[in-house]
This record gives sequence, structure tokens and C-alpha cells, in this order.
Amino acid sequence: MLDIKLEDIKPLFTEDELQNRIKEIAAELNSFYKVEEVYAICVLKGAVMFATDLVKYLDMPLKMEFIRLSSYGTGRNTTGKVNAVDISLPDLNGKNVLIIEDIIDTGLTAKFLMDFMACNFKTKSTKFCSLLDKKISRKTDIEPDYYGFHIDDKFIVGYGLDYEGYFRNLKFIGYVE
Ligand code: 5GP
Repeated sequence: MLDIKLEDIKPLFTEDELQNRIKEIAAELNSFYKVEEVYAICVLKGAVMFATDLVKYLDMPLKMEFIRLSSYGTGRNTTGKVNAVDISLPDLNGKNVLIIEDIIDTGLTAKFLMDFMACNFKTKSTKFCSLLDKKISRKTDIEPDYYGFHIDDKFIVGYGLDYEGYFRNLKFIGYVE
């Protein structure tokens, strides 16, 4: 039985706040890449909402790729180990790569991905963009190149982020105690 109900979720960012911030991030990306082609890599499943909204506001020629990683075990506990569930990618040598994540927490996932890119491709550029940045629990020295919001040490759900697979479909972001 799911032990969290919709009423237990305390709002953190409304749909409007999310969309406004996403437009601001897109403006930063548009001014950085200008007309250069970008490979936007969405890290499933959590970043699906953010990535699909963000790319709508990007103006450069763009291709989307989807990879699937997992670091969370059951419920609210991270396993501390990143598993590549599906990381098949095209040849990214010489390309601008933009990794799009939902949240950077310990930073292990970000580090895994940045290392994976560096080991497998000589990209033109590799940037990491995360909607949320939970700085307090960082265990690596990695920082996102672009982020939406800094957040406290709370367990977040909604807008792609789940609890036991639920609540990804919420239009807002909230937290549970
Ligand atoms: P990291 O490797 O930085 O510790 O964690 C990255 C992944 O952990 C995210 O992509 C996300 O799937 C998951 N994660 C981290 N914090 C939270 C959280 O507060 N809520 C949810 N639902 N997932 C989280």
C-alpha cells in the first residue's frame, strides 16, 4: 500500500514557477549555444517532464536522446550506486552534449555521466543541466552548469520525480516530510 497521499505533499514550486524558470534556463542555453547543434540527453525517468518542456524553448538545431539510469532503491533511499539501465547513445564525437537531469543530490549520477561521456567520446562540449540542486547532500565536487532551483534536504516528488513510481504526473513540485 502506498503510504503517501496527494494531501501529504507540501507544495514547493507551482506549475507557473516551474515554467517561468524553465524559460529562463532556455534563454541562457540559447545564448550559449546560439545556432550550434545540440544533443539533448534526457536522463529517464525523472527528467522526462523537465527535458520535454525545456527543449520546446530551445532554438538551435537539436536532437534528443534518452538514457536510463537508476540510483534510488525503494522509497526514499538512494542506493549510493549508479546503475546504467540503458545508456545506448549515437556517436557524440565532436558534438555539443547537454545532459538534462531532474535533480542533483549526492552528485554520483552526474559524475557517472560526465565520466561516461569523457571516457567514450571526445565531445565538443558537455554541459550538465539539472532542474533541482540539493546541494547539502553532495558527495562529489561536481556542480551543474545550469540549474533551476536550489532546494533544502527534502524528499521531492512531482513533475517527473516519483515516490515508488507514483506522482511523476504532478504539474507542480512538492516535498514529503
Ligand atoms: P544523485 O546521484 O545526485 O544522488 O541522485 C540523482 C538521482 O536520484 C536523481 O536523478 C533522482 O532520480 C534521485 N533523487 C535524488 N533526490 C531525490 C528526491 O528528493 N526525490 C526523488 N523522487 N528522487 C530523488
